[in-house]
Amino acid sequence: MERRRLLGAGLALAGAGLFADRVAGAVARTYPKPGSVAWPAQADWKGLFDEIGGRLAPMAPADLSDPATKALITNPFYVGEHPALTQSSGWLDAWRSSPSAYVVAAESAADVAAAVRFARAHGVRLVVRGGGHSYLGCSNAPDSLMVWTRRMSAITVHDAFTPVGSTAEPAPAVSVGSGAIWLHAYQAVTGGAGRYVQGGGCTTVGVAGLVQGGGFGSYSKRYGTAAGSLLEAEVVTADGQTRIVNHVREPDLYWALKGGGGGTFGVVTRLTLRTHELPATFGGANLTIHAKSDDAFRRLLARFVDHYATNLCNPHWGEQVRATPSNKLVVEMVFQGLTAEAARAAWKPLIDFANASPADYEGQNALLALAAPARSFWDADFLEKNLPPAIVLDRQPGASPTDYWWRGDGDQVGVFWLAYQSAWLPDSLLQGAGQARLADAWFQASRHWPVSFHFNKGLAGAPPEAIEAARDTATNPQMLSAFALAIIADADPPAFDALTPLAPDARARADRVAAAMKALRACAPDAGAYVNECDYFQADWRSAFWGLNYERLARIKRRYDPGGLFTVHHGVGAEA
Ligand SMILES: Cc1cc2nc3c(=O)[nH]c(=O)nc-3n(C[C@H](O)[C@H](O)[C@H](O)COP(=O)(O)OP(=O)(O)OC[C@H]3O[C@@H](n4cnc5c(N)ncnc54)[C@H](O)[C@@H]3O)c2cc1C
Repeated sequence: MERRRLLGAGLALAGAGLFADRVAGAVARTYPKPGSVAWPAQADWKGLFDEIGGRLAPMAPADLSDPATKALITNPFYVGEHPALTQSSGWLDAWRSSPSAYVVAAESAADVAAAVRFARAHGVRLVVRGGGHSYLGCSNAPDSLMVWTRRMSAITVHDAFTPVGSTAEPAPAVSVGSGAIWLHAYQAVTGGAGRYVQGGGCTTVGVAGLVQGGGFGSYSKRYGTAAGSLLEAEVVTADGQTRIVNHVREPDLYWALKGGGGGTFGVVTRLTLRTHELPATFGGANLTIHAKSDDAFRRLLARFVDHYATNLCNPHWGEQVRATPSNKLVVEMVFQGLTAEAARAAWKPLIDFANASPADYEGQNALLALAAPARSFWDADFLEKNLPPAIVLDRQPGASPTDYWWRGDGDQVGVFWLAYQSAWLPDSLLQGAGQARLADAWFQASRHWPVSFHFNKGLAGAPPEAIEAARDTATNPQMLSAFALAIIADADPPAFDALTPLAPDARARADRVAAAMKALRACAPDAGAYVNECDYFQADWRSAFWGLNYERLARIKRRYDPGGLFTVHHGVGAEA
């Protein structure tokens, strides 16, 4: 009797569609493996090869025993060009980078549609890979057929774009092939056309993966999310059809592509994004203040929270600060639309606070604030001449001389994650008694591990039009009123070889990250997380990533992909 009651309760939850990790009756899907009876015959592969003009090949794994290749796995452009590699090499107890069996180097929606029909007809596991930056390992899987979009990277800037079938006012926009990386989009739109497109901070992140996850860049506090700027997409759905979707054509699918998660609703082949007016300047401000005691650090964090709320929670400022166990407050922020003098002035109250107690603080007078013409911000030549420490140029033979990555992002390439957690912090924590709760939780969390606040990944303080555009996306609405996304993480060097031994303290460090997030969540127990940058083991993933939007997303998933051809870890519908 007792058991029957329990089973009944479980089924009721599954029927509600929310919060059950597996729908009752769902069976873990199995896929054919090479050599098995169910694996497509050589003649089948040959048929696909012919249909797409030879753009199908068995995946060639990277030879990491070759020292020259091994040296390149920390170059994100090299990794991007090699579909057998991934921008992270794996995650403790979660996933390991695993090359697919075959790869389609797609050049058109027709190539993609052929691959999709083939995978469906033969039951082969399908993987979609753009820039390869998925933290959760969603763009690689063993024994799979990969659709690789890298070759679909054309970029066209429009002075006036109207979505198909729409009567809306034409808007300045850019159409980007789904395999393009953000650096190239920025260079075309900002350097080329003097406009701005909202993308990601890291230069080599793929356009399609970022937009489908929501997408925050350094200047999102001014321009909102990347998904909020999506005007139209071309997408190949599980039935093999190529569809143009926008606010009037298949608006549900269009909405789901705006933050509903990559690799879930189809293969996007082209995206058209609204462009925005470019400010006069972009710039950065760096500062590290060291508190000489725990007590002084507590006071510094409390003062910073108030300083941020008063002076920095506005469209001008983005990126990060970090509180460390060694009592350092590390500021690595960027700004837009300010002169360097105005940027320096914004920090004066905090610096005055620290200078008033010289026995307690050091480093506060070493603020570095630099501004540059916004149009030059992604200009490799300009950066090389004026700010060489900020970038690393791709020096591979034959590489484009304008390709670079930000030095700070280089630390992540190829790493093996031990832990990575995120949480949206509500702006109520910047007001009244909330400030003390935030400062206290931040301090307690920093006893375990460095705790970063990414201010540009929450839209509190953004202009109303940016917030409204982001509201009409699938991302958890918590991000609209979050002042920051907290990120706490740790990783070890690249470990593409599954035999690489774990560092002896790997699990202990993962535990410390978890302890830090637990301490921080004392001030925001209901905080959701950002699907593109989150914990592989996120317990309440549906509500954390999408909030109440999950039910609508699940309905759209059932309509466009009833057979679950597109399935990724913690993607919409994955529980079924
Ligand atoms: C170093 C680094 C820096 C980052 N910086 C930022 C940042 O500044 N802001 C931010 O918001 N996020 C950032 N991210 C997270 C990033 O947005 C996500 O990892 C994003 O999903 C990556 O997209 P991708 O195409 O590069 O990756 P992939 O691994 O290729 O794809 C990610 C997911 O999208 C799917 N996908 C890719 N292309 C398509 C397509 N054409 N159609 C359908 N599905 C597709 C894949 O199947 C997979 O599920 C960063 C990640 C890393 C590793």
